[in-house]
Amino acid sequence: MGKFQIMNYFCALMYEPISNEQLIDIANEFGTPVYVYHAEKIAEQYNKLTDAFKEHPTKFFYACKALTNINILKYVRSLGGLLDCVSINEVKLGLLAGFTPDQILFTPNCVDFAEILEGVEAGVRINIDSISILEQFGNKFGNSYPVCIRINPHIVAGGNYKISTGHIDSKFGISIHQLRHIERIVKTTGLHVQGLHMHTGSEIKDIEVFLQGLDVMFGIAEKFEGLDFIDLGSGFKVAYKEDDKETDVKTLGRRVAEAAKKFEQEYNKVLEIWFEPGKYLVSECGSFVVKANIIKQTTATVFVGVNSGFNHLIRPMFYESYHRISNISNPTGPERIYTVVGNICETDTFAWDRVLNEVSEGDLIVFHNAGAYGFEMSSNFNSRLKPAEVLVKDGKAQLIRKADVFNDLLRNQVI
Ligand SMILES: *Cc1c(COP(=O)(O)O)cnc(C)c1O
Repeated sequence: MGKFQIMNYFCALMYEPISNEQLIDIANEFGTPVYVYHAEKIAEQYNKLTDAFKEHPTKFFYACKALTNINILKYVRSLGGLLDCVSINEVKLGLLAGFTPDQILFTPNCVDFAEILEGVEAGVRINIDSISILEQFGNKFGNSYPVCIRINPHIVAGGNYKISTGHIDSKFGISIHQLRHIERIVKTTGLHVQGLHMHTGSEIKDIEVFLQGLDVMFGIAEKFEGLDFIDLGSGFKVAYKEDDKETDVKTLGRRVAEAAKKFEQEYNKVLEIWFEPGKYLVSECGSFVVKANIIKQTTATVFVGVNSGFNHLIRPMFYESYHRISNISNPTGPERIYTVVGNICETDTFAWDRVLNEVSEGDLIVFHNAGAYGFEMSSNFNSRLKPAEVLVKDGKAQLIRKADVFNDLLRNQVI
């Protein structure tokens, strides 16, 4: 094998949802920067999950904060997925996308009780995250509106501290050590607790974390009479780097079914298992296509300055996330080492010392795995415009969000 063949062999191991040719066509038609999503990849991920958990009644609520374009919501719905929302506006988007209220789980954090009441008015399932809200909810609704309670089981998990939510300093959920207090409120108000929820963080490769969590949940399940489900949240990892592995959902599915069976035998009760995958469903489907504006040789490195920045893709700067990057305009050119930066007046380094096929000014550069928390975390910093979004389905590219225009910057300003 020649050097390039070897490289192509390794590249082939990574998922490339859309061909370079089609990405170039899309960039030419809709301009850059542009987010491109591949519908069938979302379906593939969804099917992997449903297949892995088919031994036990399991439901999947797409954590839509990863990517809320309404066309994506509709697509997930068409696959049979349900919806997890963290704000009342996500709930409204979900309803607009055609989800029925009982298909929506509302898991907000540190919101005013008024926002919870809006959720009740919409008729969606409510997941309660603090003692204060639990008390207010119980006093107002008693057993007339079933709820789910978010527990913090204090299992430390996930890629790093910033994306872990189960540790002792985390603001999420009600501590498992406050179980007595939860029980007191439930008993006093007559609340119907239908589900127990945990979500310990993102990018969890080790399935033992989920199983430990499930164990904790099963351990307290008998305290809630009308319990129907246990929601294990998410944190399923996908491969970002060449040697990364995604969460082994197949084994997890088998182990969860075993644990559920044991619980069933002991308590004569079947509890549904719920999950809330975000990244797992939509990360790999996304490619973010930008243009190399400038090649700048300094004494220290060669910079590729692209027509984007952390205003469009903040994960590398915010979480030190790794995104694979390729030059699709020159895919077989000689390999050189670059530092890829944006055009924002701030330090906005996407990647240091990255091997790319030789980049010329004007080349199209792709960031892979850009579907989750990409567009969704974009901003208008530096008065730059948010990019367009395109969905490729059945081979056809369709614009699902227009890029901002200058007037969007002025839309709410009082002049
Ligand atoms: C963010 C979030 C998720 C999704 O996490 P991923 O790592 O994207 O899968 C699921 N549940 C809740 C409550 C969340 O806040």
